[in-house]
Amino acid sequence: MIARLCALLLCLGIGGAQADSSLNEDELRFVTANAEFTLLHEMGHLLIHELQLPVLGREEDAADQLGFIGLFLLYRRQDDPAFAARLLDVADYWRLEWQRPKPAREQVREWDSHALDAQRFYTIACLAYGSDPAQMEWIIQATGLPEERAFYCDQEYAQALHAVNWLKEHFRRKPGEPMGERIEVIYDAPSYALEDGEQLLARIRASGELEAVASKAADTFALPRPLVLRMTNCGAPDAWYDHRAGELTLCYEHLEHLRRLAAQLPHLRNGAEQGRALPAQGGRQ
Ligand SMILES: [Zn+2]
Repeated sequence: MIARLCALLLCLGIGGAQADSSLNEDELRFVTANAEFTLLHEMGHLLIHELQLPVLGREEDAADQLGFIGLFLLYRRQDDPAFAARLLDVADYWRLEWQRPKPAREQVREWDSHALDAQRFYTIACLAYGSDPAQMEWIIQATGLPEERAFYCDQEYAQALHAVNWLKEHFRRKPGEPMGERIEVIYDAPSYALEDGEQLLARIRASGELEAVASKAADTFALPRPLVLRMTNCGAPDAWYDHRAGELTLCYEHLEHLRRLAAQLPHLRNGAEQGRALPAQGGRQ
């Protein structure tokens, strides 16, 4: 499973030295870490609806926590510096979303079902720090997480981990229990408007990562109905789970958006003027 996930490095149309030399190692890791987090966040929505999980509070917050803990479950490498860097990448995605200039339709929407981008940034940063305060103390400086929040982050992480462990204990398929339904992975042809569209599709298919995550979910839990995981063109960077249709959608444009945001990491991490030259278009997941 882990080996197949690592293959995502190749699945975004940017992996490999000969595929796209314009992305450095940090940018490549940023794109893959956030593509995986997006997929796991949407799988969180899928499990909430298909298993009828009890949710206290906002479903979007629960999906973020499922996605975040999902990274730990998939990699099992909490003490690995490369894994820790991926957690910062996921937090920094939300910092970049928060600080990029937004068109009027994307301005702060207090009524939205999602937490504000700035709040998602601090919450992910808090969970990353709280996962191992002794080893991850550098996250506080790297993110500017205030000590008033940081003080409780170990408890926030423990609470999220407890919830996911409870979910596994109560909902995972028992030995001998029949398999449930499967998640079919469908790739729509990428739009030619996308950079390297055909190459992108070929690499995503070749990686097998979407199939691996879909199989893992269907093997672990007895899903009550057949579902679909679809890669498609959406017209905008986004991803979502449609529980009426039983379909999880990942947009090619979201991968392109991650690639553009990755180029802003040096500005962000070197303390350059915030918000300068950030892409203006983004989705909400
Ligand atoms: Zn969501």
